[in-house]
Amino acid sequence: MANSRFKAVDEAFAKKPVIVEPPAPATSEYYGCNVFNRATMRKYLSSETRRTVYESIEQGVTLDNSVAEHVATGMKRWAMDMGATHYTHWFQPLTGGTAEKHDSFAEPRGQGESLENFSGKLLCQQEPDASSFPSGGLRNTFEARGYTAWDPSSPAFIMGDCLCIPTVFISYTGEALDYKTPLLKSVRAVTAAAADVLEYFGIKNAVVHSYLGWEQEYFLVDSSLYAQRPDLILTDRTLQGHSSSKSQQLDDHYFGAIPSRAMAFMRDLEYESYKLGIPIKTRHNEVAPNQFELAPVYEEVNLANDHNLLLMSLMKQVAERHGFRVLLHEKPFGHVNGSGKHCNWSLGTEDGIGLMSPGKTDEENLRFLAFMANVLKAVYDNNALLKASIMTATNAHRLGANEAPPAIISSFLGRQVSEAFEDLLKSKDMVKIRGKKGYSLGIPQVPELLVDNTDRNRTSPFAFTGNRFEFRAVGSSANCASPMTVLNTIVAYQLKQFKKEVDKKIEAGTPIMQAVLDETRATYKACKNVCFDGNGYSDEWKAEAKKRGLDCESSVPLSYDVCTSKKTVAIYKDTSVLTEVELKARNEVRWEIYGKKVGIEARTISDMTLNHLIPVAIEYQTALLDNVFKVKELFPKSEWDALAGDEIRQIRTISEHTCAARALAKQADDLCDELKTIEDAREQAIRYHDDVVPCIDGMREHLDALEMIVDDQMWPMPKYRELLFIS
Ligand code: ADP
Ligand code: MG
Repeated sequence: MANSRFKAVDEAFAKKPVIVEPPAPATSEYYGCNVFNRATMRKYLSSETRRTVYESIEQGVTLDNSVAEHVATGMKRWAMDMGATHYTHWFQPLTGGTAEKHDSFAEPRGQGESLENFSGKLLCQQEPDASSFPSGGLRNTFEARGYTAWDPSSPAFIMGDCLCIPTVFISYTGEALDYKTPLLKSVRAVTAAAADVLEYFGIKNAVVHSYLGWEQEYFLVDSSLYAQRPDLILTDRTLQGHSSSKSQQLDDHYFGAIPSRAMAFMRDLEYESYKLGIPIKTRHNEVAPNQFELAPVYEEVNLANDHNLLLMSLMKQVAERHGFRVLLHEKPFGHVNGSGKHCNWSLGTEDGIGLMSPGKTDEENLRFLAFMANVLKAVYDNNALLKASIMTATNAHRLGANEAPPAIISSFLGRQVSEAFEDLLKSKDMVKIRGKKGYSLGIPQVPELLVDNTDRNRTSPFAFTGNRFEFRAVGSSANCASPMTVLNTIVAYQLKQFKKEVDKKIEAGTPIMQAVLDETRATYKACKNVCFDGNGYSDEWKAEAKKRGLDCESSVPLSYDVCTSKKTVAIYKDTSVLTEVELKARNEVRWEIYGKKVGIEARTISDMTLNHLIPVAIEYQTALLDNVFKVKELFPKSEWDALAGDEIRQIRTISEHTCAARALAKQADDLCDELKTIEDAREQAIRYHDDVVPCIDGMREHLDALEMIVDDQMWPMPKYRELLFIS
């Protein structure tokens, strides 16, 4: 029997890069051509309609029906001119991906005729049959229906033959069933709170934005090899695989020359992204073999997040054209680095003031320190909540491993900013408010020094990088809305507390700047324990972090408990982002997803153990037995040990591994059967974490050992050296 693994390897090697002809025009000429952006609106909407749409986008006002009707007509004309035949409300259910249900513009009009129809009502609201999307019980207790509603702040776009309209997804009674709704609400909360604080600095009615620049890491695997791995097909990661002799020891892949097939994929992906207005800027090889990264220019967080989700779908489609599968899983391979999605986050005003950027004057620097202190305090007070926002069954493999930040949230500020804060703590008497210009913070040259802010700490989960925070603990497959909603919400809440305190001081007669300065100092003092500039991987840090009041919980299901704590509920209520009912429902969904993911992995590796790998191990063992028999027949007893002793020992070792693996497979299967009957999602998830995960890890150990014993010619699945090094 020909080994199908070798056939797949041959096929993978034979693949040549698909050369995508460079699109003749400059990027700027086709950039955004599949987006209903302002340039397109100018062609398809009247100036009056456009003005109302812009106002609605900028001020978050709901469009009335007649305007929606005009927009729908223009959008349909544009979509049909572009060759679209269908439309869909594009939304982000709690499953983590995106969802779409295509409807044709065509509507039969009797007598065999049909007309293209798309009304304002269809644009604004739809009722997809949403009964299969996770709702955490929200729809059972109320109504089974869910609605999608247009989000005009993210432009409609065309994918293939379909006009896609970004929407929120809510229940009949208004509860959020998606990621976008709370994100939009958190943006409203944080931008309003930041604008209020900016008033102290003489900036009135500021339009503040929350920005996100994500960095998407991913692996590419040849599709012929992928097809030979049931674990990749079903779980997006390898559940088995002995490390390759060469993996990433030489660091020769990082920033190395991009392999030609991967390059062809990237160019094609960039071309498709530009057409959709996704501003991809950076591409490079990452640390692990066959691992890459791409990053866009940052955008307003809601749009940036839509773009990331869109990109993740595009990646999968484009990869197929190039004979690749893209792996967005956080840890597709053991023994090499996993993938993250660093979320670069900041607040800034419409006219370009970065609230996380130091300025040139004392007042600007006080503004900078005030916002920094508030972010740090929000992160300190809610470090467990922020961590819970990125804890998933898949990201758990990456956090805490020796490559990504640990499952403890701390912040790295860099030397200059740390020193500036330390100066601030000591500066009580130095600060004299004498009119607008006559005070000093004693923090000279912060801006100049920061330009050279190269002392970057790669182990910090929440690092300040000059004009923004980089949240590095986010997983590569995540919907960034989850962490971004938490970040915006906790910062909004903290800024409101800050303002209350400053106002009290001002009312008591303290001059404004002095009041801001004093409160900034107090805020930083109360949260400086979150700052950590050392090695986040060390064991000492774990002990130290605990002392500092930072959450060290590493169990995913338990980490979710904080999401419905009294404190969290109060914060979400105060900022009007989510209600207690919604928070509870979300946790139900997360526990459910956690259990299901671990359950699928357990079933998959059990199958691999029982149906794929043990049979092969036994086949090899039989060959050894045959060899031993023949030795014994042909040679005198005195020579048996020399000629077949090793084989006999190997036969025993194989049996030990196959027996142990088989027992674990059975245990995992039995557990999965048992856990199915547990009704409580939290309890079920905890059992998956505590009891099933160890079976999966245990099976892997035995299978990996067998991979090194069994004849390479017999091993049925592509090995790491093939999966990671052929591209
Ligand atoms: P790194 O050196 O961390 O790998 P990259 O260039 O890959 O950096 O990505 C940095 C990301 O941060 C980009 O998306 C970039 O646009 C974004 N970014 C830069 N400034 C800001 C800011 N003020 N707010 C949010 N994101 C920002
Ligand atoms: Mg990068």
